[in-house]
Parts: sequence; C-alpha cells; structure tokens
Amino acid sequence: MVMNRIIQHLKSSDHVLLASHLSPDGDAIGSLLAMGIALNALGIRTTLFNESPIPAVYRFLPSVNRIRSRIEDIHLFDTAVILDCGDIIRIGKNADAVQQLPAVVNIDHHITNTRFGQMHLIDTAACATAEIVYRIIKRAGLFIDEALATAIYTGIFTDTGSFRFSNTNKEAFSICDEMVARGADPYTVAKNVYGTYSLGRIKLLNLALDSLEISCNGKLSLMILTRDMFDETGTRSEDVDGMINYGRRIRNVRVAALVQEHMNGRGPEMYPKRYHVSLRSDGSVDVAEIAAHFGGGGHRDAAGFNIESRVGDIRKDLFDLAEKIT
Ligand code: 5GP
Ligand code: MN
Repeated sequence: MVMNRIIQHLKSSDHVLLASHLSPDGDAIGSLLAMGIALNALGIRTTLFNESPIPAVYRFLPSVNRIRSRIEDIHLFDTAVILDCGDIIRIGKNADAVQQLPAVVNIDHHITNTRFGQMHLIDTAACATAEIVYRIIKRAGLFIDEALATAIYTGIFTDTGSFRFSNTNKEAFSICDEMVARGADPYTVAKNVYGTYSLGRIKLLNLALDSLEISCNGKLSLMILTRDMFDETGTRSEDVDGMINYGRRIRNVRVAALVQEHMNGRGPEMYPKRYHVSLRSDGSVDVAEIAAHFGGGGHRDAAGFNIESRVGDIRKDLFDLAEKIT
C-alpha cells in the first residue's frame, strides 16, 4: 500500500526536506511540524522549510523555531515531502530545485492537486493535510506526545475554521478528541490563533471592510487591500487571514473575493505575481474551478490565485464573473 511504501522510503532516506506553502496557514505549519516530529521519532534526519515568515499567531507552536526560511544546500537532501500544496510552485522560489531531488512525496488534500512528485498521498476528503499526517503517524505506530498533538490539533482546528467549514468531517472531531487526550489544549490554541491580534491588524480590518463592494446581482462581494493599506497599518499578508469571511457572511452572497497586493521587494516575502486573490463560496459555486481558470487552485469552497494585472482589471473580471453566477 502507498502509505507503507512512503514510510519505508522515508526510513531509508538519509536527509528529508519537509516543506509547505507560502503564506502558511495553521494546516501548513501544523502538518510541517507534526511531520518533523514524527520523522525524528523514526530516527530520520529532517530539515523543516517554509519560505515565508511564520505568522505571529502560530509562533506558540512547539518546535516552530526549527522551521528555516532558506535552503542552504539542496544537495543535502535525497527526499522532499511537500505538505498542503496543490502545486509544487506553492513552496516558492525553490520549487524547481526541489523537484529535481531523487524523490518527492506529495501529501495534500486540495482538489486541484497537480500530482507532482513520485509518491502521492492525496485525499480530497481529508479535512486538513494534518488529518493525512495523523494517519501516517498511526500507521507508523508512533507515540503522540503533547507537541505532536498540538500541531495536528492546530492544523485541523484552523483548516476547518474551528469546525465550521464544509470540510468539517467526523475525523476532524475524532482526531481532535484524541489530540486533546494526548495533551493539546483547545483554549491555548484558540487563544493564540484567534485571540492575539496587533492593533494594526484591527485597523487593517477596518480598511478591508471599508473597501467592501457587492456586485450588481448581489452574488459576489469584493474587498481590496493595497500595499499602502499594509504600510499605513504596519501589517502584512498574515494579518489578512480570515478577513474574507466577513464578505462571505453577507446575505445572498455566493462568492466572496479578497484581492491583496503583495509587498514584493519591501519585505522578506517575494511572490511571483503582484496580486493574490482569495475566493470563498457558500457551496453553490465551485471556486476551485474559477481559481484554476486563473492559474491557481484550492478547494471547492476556498481557493485562490496569483495574478499580474491592475487592480481595476481584476475588479472588472470578478464583477463580470459575478453576473454569470446563476
Ligand atoms: P487563500 O485564499 O486563503 O490564500 O487560499 C485558499 C485556498 O486556495 C487554500 O486551500 C490554498 O491552498 C488555495 N490557493 C490559494 N492560492 C493558490 C494558488 O495560487 N494556487 C493554488 N494551486 N492554490 C491556491
Ligand atoms: Mn490545508
């Protein structure tokens, strides 16, 4: 079976590179940390990598300081495990070099996964990549300590929007129940993830809400965050997390869109394109398909893409699209 084959392969690897996507969310970080702890318990040498800074709200996670933002020497690694990425380009500028490694393992739950790499553990029914990592840990027969439990719990808790999104399944509850029994503390996780925002973030929220527009038919909401707004509030991309949900909650809105201008050149993050567009739907519209049309991807209800364009053109494209929602 493929999972056994992957575990066997990892056990016979010399040094494994673990990586997850740019602008990481709780699942990208939780899965990365959990996989790191698990492979170390199996006696496998690992390096944890994420090109973006770790958002402040996730810095409480055990062993988060192990995550490096640069790959010093790609030739150190004989295997890469890519977590929570529908496409390998999501890891950032090292994607090409990583793809050249002798073995690439693709562990993910996005419907638009491009099936990059030689070994795949892709389950679009999994609520989070952390659910798949949990299964690996169980299959490998590993003991789940507090650090591991907290990482898995955080991945599932955040990717399901605190058990509110449509990916919330039975496993989300059963695994989280077990993780709490193993030492994950729901209050600590929630307090860090949702309870400790900078003043700048709240001011950015104010600007995001102020930018809110609705299409003529009322089916699409749009928010736009420019580089000036980030500068003015002293915030960056990580502070946008969750804001799109305000646009989604408006009555009759089927698709919420949030456009953010990247800080390219002004911060540690470099994105290939100038704007990132996040899309969310109420379930009646497949936004993964829309995102894929623009070269991105994601899930049916939550997707995104990057685009080199002008904000006025993006706005027009999205409002034109809104009129096609039946
Ligand atoms: P967000 O809008 O929060 O960045 O992303 C929503 C979902 O879409 C996430 O599951 C994310 O992985 C996916 N996604 C966002 N941007 C891209 C992209 O440029 N390419 C692909 N393949 N998926 C994306
Ligand atoms: Mn995920």
